[in-house]
Amino acid sequence: MESQDRGTRFFLKRLRETMALALKEESRLAKIVALISGHMVAEVCSIYLRRPGGEMELYATEGLNPKAVGRTVLAAGEGLIGAIARHAQPLILQDAQNHPAFSYRPETGEEIYKSFLGVPIIRMGHVLGVLSVQNRRRRAYSEDNVELMETAAMLMAELLAGRAFHSRAARAAPNEALHLKGASLARGLAMGEIVLHQPRIHIETLLAEDSDREHERLDAALYDLRAELDEMRSAPSLAEGGEERQILEAHRIFADDRSWQARLHEAIETGLSAEASVERVQENIRARFLHQSNPYLKERLHDLDDLANRLLRHLTGGGMKPESLPEEAILVARNMGPAELLDYDKDRLRGIALEEGSALAHATIVARSLGIPLIGRLPDLLTIAAAGSAAILDGDTGALYLNPDRHLRAAYREKRKIRARRLKAYRARARRASRTKDGAEIALLMNVGLLMDLPQLEETGAEGIGLVRTELQFMIHAAMPRLSAQVALYRQILAAAGENPVAFRTLDIGGDKILPYMRNLGIRRQRGENPALGWRAIRIALDKPVLLRYQLRALLQAAAGKALHILFPMIATVEEYHQARALLRKEETHAERHGLARPRSVSVGAMLEVPSLIWQLEALLPESDFLAIGTNDLLQFFFASDRGDPHVGERYDPLNRGFLAALRHIHRKAEAAGVPATVCGEMAANPLHALALIGIGFRKITLAPSAIGPVKEAIGLLDLRALQEEMPKIFDDPASSPREILEDFAKKHKIPTVS
Ligand code: PEP
Ligand code: MG
Repeated sequence: MESQDRGTRFFLKRLRETMALALKEESRLAKIVALISGHMVAEVCSIYLRRPGGEMELYATEGLNPKAVGRTVLAAGEGLIGAIARHAQPLILQDAQNHPAFSYRPETGEEIYKSFLGVPIIRMGHVLGVLSVQNRRRRAYSEDNVELMETAAMLMAELLAGRAFHSRAARAAPNEALHLKGASLARGLAMGEIVLHQPRIHIETLLAEDSDREHERLDAALYDLRAELDEMRSAPSLAEGGEERQILEAHRIFADDRSWQARLHEAIETGLSAEASVERVQENIRARFLHQSNPYLKERLHDLDDLANRLLRHLTGGGMKPESLPEEAILVARNMGPAELLDYDKDRLRGIALEEGSALAHATIVARSLGIPLIGRLPDLLTIAAAGSAAILDGDTGALYLNPDRHLRAAYREKRKIRARRLKAYRARARRASRTKDGAEIALLMNVGLLMDLPQLEETGAEGIGLVRTELQFMIHAAMPRLSAQVALYRQILAAAGENPVAFRTLDIGGDKILPYMRNLGIRRQRGENPALGWRAIRIALDKPVLLRYQLRALLQAAAGKALHILFPMIATVEEYHQARALLRKEETHAERHGLARPRSVSVGAMLEVPSLIWQLEALLPESDFLAIGTNDLLQFFFASDRGDPHVGERYDPLNRGFLAALRHIHRKAEAAGVPATVCGEMAANPLHALALIGIGFRKITLAPSAIGPVKEAIGLLDLRALQEEMPKIFDDPASSPREILEDFAKKHKIPTVS
């Protein structure tokens, strides 16, 4: 046993050394497969790599026909190799040719090999390829054999990490220029260096000579982990029976789990360092959860990831913060939450490219508000984009250029200059009133998320702040901001707006807006299938009134002597609105009783985001000082299409006739009741959509700062009377769509519609 372990360690050391050889990739991989087949006493060892489209290409082999390399390409999911890649699980067969998934490829000459053992090459939950061995005779591969192959695959994953896939058939150069086309989600141009978003800790040392020392290190780290969890569990701030305590209890039980610990120690026996063992065992757990659609189990995986990360931190002394960025960084991730985005240094983050992503997801909104271009829907990007390579990201067209040549760079530098000139022209127009050609005033206000948005008030000439997404500022704090901190924050916003109005929306948390300290507040993270329909926004506020009252108290204090506008998010029934107002009244009474300075006036309104409210306007409007239509959520609930889902997030056109009719109905009701109605979703940020809103009758629009210039330009060229004449056609002409009619109109009147 002892000598077998020594043999394994020696093999892994040689494997590592071979990987580090300064050879061409083809020669290096040829040496690696030869080494593995020798150690495994297998006639064949092959490496298949996953192409961006999911096909598996035979990339290197010892034993199969060398001419098949680069020529044998299995379709996604095809054959034994495809099955391993799809399920991210090892496959062990003694009679491979008779397996139903076996796919016969005559060029490989593999029909004579009976036994087969294949393991996935996984990194960060992504299958990069498959490593397999084959034997001519029937052979029962042992658990040790599987372990060893998995360890070798883990080392291969490190070798392959972040490198672009270059088909052997195409024999592409390593720094080949690649043009990928995704969806434009936040406009703008960026040039910089690719950084892969890796919330997990980076492991420096994968192999260890002295396994006794690694066992000791692991035991010490496990001891520290348990002590840390015990300390956290006994914190007086933790509510008895509360969610956080329950999670910590679960972590504690798992940390004690003997089989987990045994698996960690076994992994060390294969020659890995303690930290690589943690990663390896976690990668196996992750692979088993890969195809889980049950959201509860997915959350459990999240918890297990948390625990593994904690253990890694004890082993490496590393932090959880994202890595520091180079001067000009283009961040690449599968997807991202708004809080993760805010963790990065905004001055260095030039662009974001996501495999998923959608136009109305909050990370996109945050990116837009920070002026960071973002593109999404780039499948397999994490496997294609190599960390450190140069890239150009065009948020206007959705293009991502990897390793661009100097001509492309020059062209983009030029494009950047033109864009800067256009922005300068918008700024020059900031002082001018927002008025149509025939003199109608259309007020353009600004949406604010973070304090860093405030200077844009001046630059854009916005006539106030139509929406403060207060939760964004909460999301970048590690703990709930105290009353004094909240007062200071709101004061700063009011001061920046001067005499112009500011509408503060009370906390809209839940869904994809997660506060790091939510559990401490007794707010469990939504684990249902549809978090956007779940416990969020006003629903949390009414169930946990302390949170809302605290915020209202801060707002009343901050606005002393000024006009205060308060918006309640996601109101679905008039009763909810009444309850929210009742809490505000309590706070007003509290302020009065304590003799605190009061705002000059307090105006209150609801966000109309849930269609149910459209049919309660008669009851709502008499009690409202104003109304704000949140088209982002309204669209998602109107069409039942998750705004954060890349498949359906933009499936429906905001210029859909039915949706415009709903907006017209809201406008008519508000006008009849004498209640000003503002439109505050992203819809208004598109000049063509803004024309539709103005045509319906809206005169107050609130937008992301970057959209004010283009929309103001469109308004300045608009003949409102001519547009109004077009409106009946928009609603009633079945021969053409509202979009076509508006596009024709814009063209005829030479109104630019680029946002
Ligand atoms: C909306 O839903 O349109 C809105 C403005 O709110 P948020 O995008 O923050 O959900
Ligand atoms: Mg909303």
